[in-house]
Amino acid sequence: MAIRTDIKLLLHRRTKIVATLGPSSSDRDTIGRLIDAGANVFRLNMSHGSHDGHRQAFANVRSAAAERGAPVAVLADLCGPKIRVGSFPGGAIALAPSETVTVTTRDVPGEPGLIPSQYRELDVDVRTGSRILLDDGNLELRVREVEGTEIRCEVVTGGVLSDHKGMNLPGVDVSAPSLTDTDREDARFALELGVDFLALSFVRRASDIEALQELISRSGHPAAIVAKIEKPEALEGIEDILQATDAIMVARGDLGVELPPQAVPIVQYQLVDMARAYRKPVIVATQMLESMIEHARPTRAEVSDVATAVRAGADAVMLSAETAAGRHPVAAVRMMDDIARQTEGYLWRLGAFGSLTRPVDATRPLPIEDALSESMAQLSRDLLVRAIVVISLQGRSLAVMSSSRPSAPIIGISPGQRASRVANLLWGVVPQAADTDAIEDPYTLARKIVRHGGLAAPGDTILLVRGFSHDPGQNTPSVTIVTV
Ligand code: PEP
Repeated sequence: MAIRTDIKLLLHRRTKIVATLGPSSSDRDTIGRLIDAGANVFRLNMSHGSHDGHRQAFANVRSAAAERGAPVAVLADLCGPKIRVGSFPGGAIALAPSETVTVTTRDVPGEPGLIPSQYRELDVDVRTGSRILLDDGNLELRVREVEGTEIRCEVVTGGVLSDHKGMNLPGVDVSAPSLTDTDREDARFALELGVDFLALSFVRRASDIEALQELISRSGHPAAIVAKIEKPEALEGIEDILQATDAIMVARGDLGVELPPQAVPIVQYQLVDMARAYRKPVIVATQMLESMIEHARPTRAEVSDVATAVRAGADAVMLSAETAAGRHPVAAVRMMDDIARQTEGYLWRLGAFGSLTRPVDATRPLPIEDALSESMAQLSRDLLVRAIVVISLQGRSLAVMSSSRPSAPIIGISPGQRASRVANLLWGVVPQAADTDAIEDPYTLARKIVRHGGLAAPGDTILLVRGFSHDPGQNTPSVTIVTV
């Protein structure tokens, strides 16, 4: 059999695209073009820019999305306890291999042989033998001795260290809280803006998420939480984190510094499978089309990286500097859209959407929603259904239905715009806001939506899934097979 490349594309892309906003993309016109190119969620990165800048970018997203009637979501990414070095006269110093240097927690400018740390507890947290990685792991120090505020180190890997570069401490129990005072301020600001998601960086345990949940409920502005998995400690407690969070992000940038980079793909495969088993959405992030920061076309390896994440069944793939600071933000989203569509068209033909790379251990009986989700995915394949219409009042049942990766698109009907925007991160979900009256006649609504959306013609089969409730006494989910 010949290998064919003329893949038939699906009407709706299943894998979602998160695009980071920044100087290259925050204006209203570019945001509109990014939506047209396929961006589903925009990320405001609180590590960069000012509140005024983020406020303007947020307003631009909402207005460009409203103009298009698109349920585009906004995610504010909190900086977390990112540790950085201070500054140096002249902007940088050189570190030579085997040289002895001192890292100090005193608030002083650096100089050759002296590196100031902006993290004041560093001298308490590190021990003789601890590794200190600088500048995304490009430079490495080994602690030889700690004397008060002065940490004497040997340079293992040398190079040039410039102002404010990041510092990672693999294997060190960092005492700084995951939700810093700056994060609390940024979170309150973002919640007041009305963002749909808050991402928490350097999550180590489930209690980190609970602290943010508490802040969100006190603010009175709801937002879903994305736990960024970038610390080895998070991998140890991943099941508790998956229980506590609404979504996770495989934050491969810092993860690949804290762990050897060659461990990252294996961690990525496992995180995607585990998130799906917990029926929580998962975003794969960082350096996906990195060369497009400069060039109009990605490397072949980058294209393969996006296709691998799509094939693994990630809910979303993310662009960082490519759209925030790159020269080709719109082309990067278009390219990602194209790679996802081609890969999905191929997987759909194989009937391979649902496959996990490792089995999920689940004790029986399954929760009702989980069992229903798996059966509905099976029905979608066996009956060649054209669409699965899911009526979801709070949105949770959409995540559950999406996690079994059915072969037909899921039309997620929720009352209100916010639920639709949050659902726009979910694999295969086409969100549609509807008013409560329309939801009361679900058959008419479902038929109308699939016919108007060009998804089904008279005689086609669709599934209608509804009846979910958080209240166990009211939870009477049902699947109806409907002929259009
Ligand atoms: C990452 O480290 O991969 C990441 C997504 O976080 P940030 O872009 O905030 O460094």
